[in-house]
Amino acid sequence: MRTYIGRVGDEAVVDLADHEIEKIVLADLRKTMQIEGNPDFTVVSRWKQAMPQYVVGHKKRVDEARRELGKEFPMVGVAGSSFGGFDLPDCVEQGKAAAHELFERLQV
Ligand SMILES: Cc1cc2nc3c(=O)[nH]c(=O)nc-3n(C[C@H](O)[C@H](O)[C@H](O)COP(=O)(O)OP(=O)(O)OC[C@H]3O[C@@H](n4cnc5c(N)ncnc54)[C@H](O)[C@@H]3O)c2cc1C
Repeated sequence: MRTYIGRVGDEAVVDLADHEIEKIVLADLRKTMQIEGNPDFTVVSRWKQAMPQYVVGHKKRVDEARRELGKEFPMVGVAGSSFGGFDLPDCVEQGKAAAHELFERLQV
């Protein structure tokens, strides 16, 4: 079972010792699932600043940035985890949409 922890304003958890992180994760899992035993083994990986952390107003700011960019550089598109969703399907969709939009602009 793979579990991710940490979020906006709670980055400090990444710097805790492995055994403290394991304790937090296990306590959370026990709250949501009927787990009584202890794991046979655990692996803790730290991915600092690896994912964009969206805050309130993110979509509005990205929409504005895209609009402004489009005015100045109509043939530049932006896509990726910093903008409209960070899982792989989101990134692929954004890439396709950006390419499609630029292609449409080329046609006119
Ligand atoms: C630990 C971890 C686990 C994840 N697990 C999953 C998962 O299970 N499922 C899922 O859907 N998503 C997962 N994700 C999220 C997903 O992998 C990323 O959000 C997605 O790959 C981001 O794609 P991207 O194109 O925006 O950025 P990236 O894939 O980071 O691509 C950016 C590219 O730009 C290049 N680059 C950076 N700076 C420059 C520069 N100045 N000049 C030129 N090139 C530059 C980089 O080298 C890189 O190739 C995970 C992410 C992490 C970190």
